[in-house]
Amino acid sequence: MSNNKNIQFTNNINYFRCPKCKSNMIMENNSLKCENNHCFDISKKGYINFLINRKPPEGYDKTFFEKRREMLNDGFYEHIAKEITNILDNCTDVKNLVDAGCGDGYYSHIAEDKNHNIFAFDFSKDAINVASRGVNNICFMVSDINNIPLKDNSMDCILNIYTPANYIEFKRILSDSGKIIKIVPGKEHLKELRHIIKEQLKNEEYSNQEVIDCFKEHCELINRVRAKNTIRVNSKQLENLIRMTPLMFDIDLKNINYNDISEITIDGEILVGKIK
Ligand SMILES: [Zn+2]
Repeated sequence: MSNNKNIQFTNNINYFRCPKCKSNMIMENNSLKCENNHCFDISKKGYINFLINRKPPEGYDKTFFEKRREMLNDGFYEHIAKEITNILDNCTDVKNLVDAGCGDGYYSHIAEDKNHNIFAFDFSKDAINVASRGVNNICFMVSDINNIPLKDNSMDCILNIYTPANYIEFKRILSDSGKIIKIVPGKEHLKELRHIIKEQLKNEEYSNQEVIDCFKEHCELINRVRAKNTIRVNSKQLENLIRMTPLMFDIDLKNINYNDISEITIDGEILVGKIK
């Protein structure tokens, strides 16, 4: 039996492997089942939870992803989305794309416009609940980045946006010509927020050097683009931003006056690479 909620999994069943025993999977009713009978159901919302040991990450709850989605809908990350679109337009040989650590799915939905087969996962079930809303053709999954339920050499492109990487897993699932598009915060990212909480930070200026060095260690850098924009922000947006920014999770807001902030810089460095 097949319905519109599982069609994307049915069409792409050959790319999946069981996260428990690594064997092939078939579609049976509304579940993916492996040769050893490990079974993963497609939820009512149309995604699959592949997590074997569930430990929900702290701070990243439903409110976090709701707030994040609101900020994205307000256009705060539009300049970054535009660069991603440009890069994807130039990747004409991409058929299968993975959004690794997709969060609320903002970039998965952008990639969907390009007619790729899209696989998108996040460790957080709350994120996938937000991401999988509405009609889409994306295989959304709750999954561990250290055990991606996709076969070796099966993917052509990985998006890895403002989220940690696992280059060993990326290398395993990517085809020989496969690419990684990674976004890391630029050094001016949220500099207005960092400034008012500087007493509670180790360094006021953010450095992405370590993350970029790690990328270069595993990938041959093909392209590097900076996407930076400073945007006016109202008090509600500022409040959303504070709730959706991991930087703020450990900050004591008691003596912080953020009402003077009228604009926010969103700074991203986009790295395109081929795995070594
Ligand atoms: Zn299995």
